[in-house]
Amino acid sequence: MMEVKEVLCRSILTRTSGYLKAVSSHSLNPYIGCGFGRSACGVGCYVRANHWLTRGRPWGGFVEAKTNAADVYTATCDAEQRWAEKRGLPFSIFFSSATEPWQPLEKKFRITRSILQAMEQKPPQELILQTHSTGIRDDMKLIAGLACACDLRVQVSIEGDRDRLPGLPPPPATVADRIQLLRDLTDAGILTVACLSPLYPLRDADAFFKRLAATGIRALVIDHFILGDGTHDGSRTLKTGLPSAMAEALAASTTLSYRDHVAEIARKYLPVGLSAEGFAGHYSAQHP
Ligand code: SF4
Repeated sequence: MMEVKEVLCRSILTRTSGYLKAVSSHSLNPYIGCGFGRSACGVGCYVRANHWLTRGRPWGGFVEAKTNAADVYTATCDAEQRWAEKRGLPFSIFFSSATEPWQPLEKKFRITRSILQAMEQKPPQELILQTHSTGIRDDMKLIAGLACACDLRVQVSIEGDRDRLPGLPPPPATVADRIQLLRDLTDAGILTVACLSPLYPLRDADAFFKRLAATGIRALVIDHFILGDGTHDGSRTLKTGLPSAMAEALAASTTLSYRDHVAEIARKYLPVGLSAEGFAGHYSAQHP
């Protein structure tokens, strides 16, 4: 059973802290909870450990839709832009850090769409759209238009080249569907990045990166659950079923050195950014 609620929010632009501070001045979450919480990415999802947000509810079992989010954005974005500028930061928004903007209920509520429409009138300076979902296609035109008004990139989460890890449920979209999505986004002229976050054990790294490079994306972000989950040793994720599923596929994949090994291969095909640096848009290519 999914508990679904419509709620009114008082604020929608959250000033970033911790891991995200290096990435953007603000984060924006149109929903609380995630309808993909019971899929593969929900197993190790960093948000499920946020007790303040879940308030004891099972991850994937609740969604709250912030129905006034677009109005609150319009009413507060100027003040938040001034706050960022006073600190010498671009007014940059990570959309979203604690939910999926194009989760299944977006088709019903269209909260994400309404915020993007509000941004057409009042764009931030930078906008990072982070998604696992092919549902973003519904807003492709809107996003392509916004990309002319601000520095915009779409980051698609695609953890690896396997559709299933042993014992885990299926992902929100297959690997093939997400590769097609990358292609569609770049064809629409949208700057697009693939995020291996958290990195899963790869079957054939060279073949995978070749496929990703052929989609026309700008870069790759490679992020391991160690460091990536907000703890220095991955202790948050170690409490979930993800590490054992990864280890069953490839024992070495649960160490941070696996990320660096994979990044070395990836750099033969595309510029690569590691963990927070990568999410912030800093990539490096292979030295000639
Ligand atoms: S789609 Fe994103 S927010 Fe939702 S469960 Fe997966 S990782 Fe977590």
